[in-house]
Amino acid sequence: MKKYERLIPKLIEHMKNSQEWGSFWPFAHLPFAYNESAAMDYFPLTMDEALKRGFRWRDEEEKAPSVEKVIPASQLPDRIQDIPDDVLQWVITCETSGKSFRIIKQELDFYRRMHLPLPREHPEARHKRRMGMRNPYKLWMRSCSKCGNKIETSFAPERKENVYCEECYLKEVY
Ligand SMILES: [Zn+2]
Repeated sequence: MKKYERLIPKLIEHMKNSQEWGSFWPFAHLPFAYNESAAMDYFPLTMDEALKRGFRWRDEEEKAPSVEKVIPASQLPDRIQDIPDDVLQWVITCETSGKSFRIIKQELDFYRRMHLPLPREHPEARHKRRMGMRNPYKLWMRSCSKCGNKIETSFAPERKENVYCEECYLKEVY
């Protein structure tokens, strides 16, 4: 502990000289590549742009799995009751990205218990679609649909939803 206390002012001085002090973690130490992180969801970059800015990039290579059968998602039965246990041995081809994915036993049990059909998209495609439903990281000035007060909202003006100010919203829900 004493050693640490003695070392600290030196470290700070060094970091100030090298202009690291107060800055974000150097990109080289980030545990994930840019395209694997949530940054890619909100601030998408091409591989070239990311590398130019000093980020890492990682493409997952698709390994050919040893399976009994490859089935295009469009050929999956619609009803979960019609899905045989064998599906766990199959590879499904995503209907939007063309990527291969598999269903695991726990997942199949869950879909059966909840009476849900099997997904037809690769997990990444599903994630992308869900992200597409979120509002953008941008605020617009609008008027509250109830009292007319000016508010900032992530709902763009051309959207048809009613947008309430905080006060009107709280009155409405409680
Ligand atoms: Zn209001």
